[in-house]
Amino acid sequence: MHEDSQIVSGVEVVPLHDAIGPMGPSLRRPLPETFPGSTPALWERLRAEAPEVFGPDGAWVLRFYCFLVRVPQGPTILVDTGLGPEDSPASSWAPVPGGLIGALSGVGLAPSDIDIVVLTHVHSDHASGAVAGGVPVFGNARHVLQRDELDWLRNGGGAVLDEVVQPLQDAGLLDTITGGERLSDSVAIALTPGHTPGHQSVIVDDHRLVVAGDIVMHPAQLADPSITYIYDEDPVAAAATRIDLLARMRDRDGILAAPHLPQPFVPITRA
Ligand SMILES: [Zn+2]
Repeated sequence: MHEDSQIVSGVEVVPLHDAIGPMGPSLRRPLPETFPGSTPALWERLRAEAPEVFGPDGAWVLRFYCFLVRVPQGPTILVDTGLGPEDSPASSWAPVPGGLIGALSGVGLAPSDIDIVVLTHVHSDHASGAVAGGVPVFGNARHVLQRDELDWLRNGGGAVLDEVVQPLQDAGLLDTITGGERLSDSVAIALTPGHTPGHQSVIVDDHRLVVAGDIVMHPAQLADPSITYIYDEDPVAAAATRIDLLARMRDRDGILAAPHLPQPFVPITRA
């Protein structure tokens, strides 16, 4: 077992640190504007409780985690592929290159060991690491994406159609699905829309652990899940998804695995 990992129903979930850095200038806005619905009192509280998400100039400092889900006698699943190479589509706003491949080798795995890549959504900080130099990085993996997400991308959403999704499709590695799918007895994909139209999450043992992509972006949204994010495609749907998912986790004394929070795992408990 890896020291930072969580084990739920025999399934090991390992956080893979891709990067850390402030929100880059191209997307940066004042925090109250970035998170509509947040109050000055909340920001004051968070500065005391979670100083690690504030840079010296007050900018939002994000972590970038991908997650490995290891099913005994089952598939090795990678959830998201991070920022990717130096010339990543994410390079305009995020610290590149991402360190995912190094983190993966730190747990004894090569890219060829991944059986399934689940792309929670096609934003550049989640999908860019799937392709380097036009070539798929995880050459043995089926890459699962929601049909709604692909349609949105083709209609001008996201930013990774030519750089990431097309090369995956050309290599026969892209598998679009509609709605939920079971990946093993205790691991499933669920559609969790709002941040993007076809955003999906990975659910372990009926919400005892959820790898939740960008459902919860910032500690502000743990304090008040109705707080939205300026770059949500549908903020109302995103808030509804967030409130529902957190409630389900709370009922199970669950664990949230989130890419951008200061800690990769957050207990969501009834107490
Ligand atoms: Zn993100």
